[in-house]
Amino acid sequence: MNRVTVDREMCKECEYCMQFCPKKTILKKSETVNKMGYYAVHAADMTDCIACGICANVCPEGAITVEKDV
Ligand code: SF4
Ligand code: SF4
Repeated sequence: MNRVTVDREMCKECEYCMQFCPKKTILKKSETVNKMGYYAVHAADMTDCIACGICANVCPEGAITVEKDV
């Protein structure tokens, strides 16, 4: 399974990653805030992730890491 890791303390909830991800089932807002007061994004369901890296590329905070399963 591919892996997407979001550093929740870096996320400022801009939602670019969610908007540009070609799959709509993966990235979700958390239900609790991080230390900056944002509902940080996390990878909720990796089933459909194609490890395209778009989420990591559009994140202005550099909070996302994508690892492709080999
Ligand atoms: S790597 Fe691509 S498919 Fe996977 S969560 Fe990021 S944008 Fe979506
Ligand atoms: S693009 Fe980055 S800062 Fe914006 S919501 Fe996604 S993880 Fe958070």
